[in-house]
Amino acid sequence: ETCNNPPLTLVSTSERRDYGEDRVINLDAGDPTMYETYWKKMGKKATVVIPGWRSMSYYSNGRSLCWFLEPDLCQQILRLHRVVGNAITEGRYIIVGTGSSQLILAALYALSPPDSSEPTDVVSAVPYYSSYPSMCDYLKTSLFKWGGDAHTYEKEGSYIEIVTSPNNPDGSLREPVVNRSGGAVLHDLAYYWPHYTPIAAPADFDLSLFTASKCTGHAGSRIGWALVKNPEIAMKMVKFIELNTIGVSKDSQLRTARMLSVISDSCEQAGSTSDNRSESFYGFGHRLMTERWCRIRQAVKHGGMFTLPDFPTAYCNFLNQPTETRPAFAWLKCEDEEEDCAGLLRRHKILGRSGVSFGCSPKFVRVSMMDRDDNFDLLVQRISKITAAPNSEH
Ligand code: PMP
Repeated sequence: ETCNNPPLTLVSTSERRDYGEDRVINLDAGDPTMYETYWKKMGKKATVVIPGWRSMSYYSNGRSLCWFLEPDLCQQILRLHRVVGNAITEGRYIIVGTGSSQLILAALYALSPPDSSEPTDVVSAVPYYSSYPSMCDYLKTSLFKWGGDAHTYEKEGSYIEIVTSPNNPDGSLREPVVNRSGGAVLHDLAYYWPHYTPIAAPADFDLSLFTASKCTGHAGSRIGWALVKNPEIAMKMVKFIELNTIGVSKDSQLRTARMLSVISDSCEQAGSTSDNRSESFYGFGHRLMTERWCRIRQAVKHGGMFTLPDFPTAYCNFLNQPTETRPAFAWLKCEDEEEDCAGLLRRHKILGRSGVSFGCSPKFVRVSMMDRDDNFDLLVQRISKITAAPNSEH
């Protein structure tokens, strides 16, 4: 039988890649394809076979608060946080979601007072993750609405502050900035892993979100998880997911459980000294990000058109050495006042996301640092050739 669907031209899949040296490189999204090389090397260890009869039920564990969470995944989440030391799991409910995206909405639903006369304001400090405003507003719910920059938020009443640390887009380490009573804080810790930032202390918050997308690189599996202290909030989040998707794909959960277990194995086998830890999955990620940051800084310096933020160094309790934050995105700033930085990159066949999407000026642009090697190579080559004279290509 033939499929009559028109071909999708929007999505560029790995099967339909253009390898030409002058191709457009799309670094607009944070697609974590750089991890493919690691998982290719893992071969069978990271291959999951699911027999036809397995995980057919809607349910995973009918007695648990999160009845659609696969016990294998739950165990591997607990194990990974213990091995990495990036979050306290004791006294927390674990809730699985279809990506952390679904959990952000579940958390906003659960944290908004249901009987409030006004929608609860959702705020985050500029520059904030570009999806937060649209996620808040696209359904026009009366429960919550996007309230803008947390730095300038002065209204009375209930609010929810989203704290992203390390931050997307600029990699900064963050704390809440509103700091008054009547608010709830949602910690989006998508990037709180040793390849991106030193793990100085385990996260110990009321509600934290993590995602496999940025931890293992399996964004396509769409698995995220929340660590939630308050049982009522946890139950409401579960209710949201029940109403939204009646749970979360078991196939994806089982695959993610395997990936997390391969990572924990790699950490445990590597032992705890800094030399040995470099053999683990995070050693791979840390080395690759360190090398990439070194190369992009050189390219930026050579071209002289942009600047990049500086990052602090801190002792990483997982890698057992002082490390610098090496974010998943480069937050480039055009030093020319008039410049539309994303437009400038587009003229050089690099697609990034404009600072405007993050509540900032168009002098900024975000490019992903997590793409495949060949695209990253082209990025640094091209950035190093963008010099202070507009439109020049040397
Ligand atoms: N939060 C942040 C800060 C992100 O950068 C992303 C992905 N770009 C997400 C949440 C959503 O990720 P996912 O739905 O793939 O878990």
